[in-house]
Amino acid sequence: MDSKIQELILQLGKTHHLPEDAYACLIRGCSEESAAYAAQLAVPLRRQIYGTDVYVRGLIEISNICRNDCLYCGIRRSNHSCVRYRLSPQEILECCEEGYSLGFRTFVLQGGEDGFYTDALLCELLRTIKARFPDCAVTLSLGERDRESYERLFDAGADRYLLRHETADVYHYQKLHPPSMSFEHRMNCLQDLKEIGYQVGCGFMVGSPFQTPETLAKDLKFIETFRPAMCGIGPFVPHHATPFADYPQGSLELTLYLLSLIRLIAPDILLPATTALGTIHPMGREKGILAGANVVMPNLSPVSQRKKYELYDNKICTGEESAQCRSCLSSRMHSIGYEVVVSRGDQRKLSTSL
Ligand code: SAH
Repeated sequence: MDSKIQELILQLGKTHHLPEDAYACLIRGCSEESAAYAAQLAVPLRRQIYGTDVYVRGLIEISNICRNDCLYCGIRRSNHSCVRYRLSPQEILECCEEGYSLGFRTFVLQGGEDGFYTDALLCELLRTIKARFPDCAVTLSLGERDRESYERLFDAGADRYLLRHETADVYHYQKLHPPSMSFEHRMNCLQDLKEIGYQVGCGFMVGSPFQTPETLAKDLKFIETFRPAMCGIGPFVPHHATPFADYPQGSLELTLYLLSLIRLIAPDILLPATTALGTIHPMGREKGILAGANVVMPNLSPVSQRKKYELYDNKICTGEESAQCRSCLSSRMHSIGYEVVVSRGDQRKLSTSL
């Protein structure tokens, strides 16, 4: 490994920030050795704050109906081969019920931008979930809504909101999205969510078409300055019925390296080893934890609908029961010396004495 790269990684581990051009330099310097070195610094930081705990989130994919047409996404509006479904509030509650008995204390409600889920419907659902499971956190991941909507959902009990920024470079954003979608609007949503008081998650795909070390440097600078509570990153995986069908998938090595770098930038961040990472390598999620991630998100969606939430090809865990997913992940984590814990899994702060 280049000594300059080693020095930059070391510096990042100490100061938790770097100039944008240094981030670009780090990304250009991605190699097996630099990734191993970054992990070597990231894992002790993660362990100082979270020990060997791995937080689980029960992911409930509530709808694959979407008004948007993101070029990378399998549930985009223009994909007419996608068989659409949506879960009723009753079905969502049944997923929570099952999840609770399996030890989940966070439910993530994710879906396409489906107008069926009005503020009124979601607020009532949130109140019911929070009343029935008062010791649980609810995360929403339902895309862009207006500020008033985010406020109502927060007041009804939503704790967290995941909205990947997808890329922090406006030109790159335009290449991944149709002209009807705006970079400025997505960034404004993230700002609104934070101001309202949500624990906010941003994130991006690794190896998305037209991504460069320079755009990734902007992503890292954005994470450094926005200070999200969570950050979801996973490799881009092509979906056969999208305009990006023939683009290559993102690399395992770069994803793992970025997980470590993000841990160095934000030691206390909640960082999932994503399903997409598990899709491109059979040990992807284990490798993600060993690079510095501390969250996994097994699927709690009804098995009858799971295959239909196909954001990308070959998505794993679409055939198993929720209980199987949960116990499979627990044993996977155990096998590498980590433990899935029964907890809401809120962000912890690095104590100042450390
Ligand atoms: N509609 C919600 C949820 C989107 S799906 C929203 O807008 O936030 C969740 C994430 O899956 C997206 O943010 C995107 O980063 C990721 N995703 C979509 N298509 C993908 C693909 N082909 N490969 C990898 N990740 C993908």
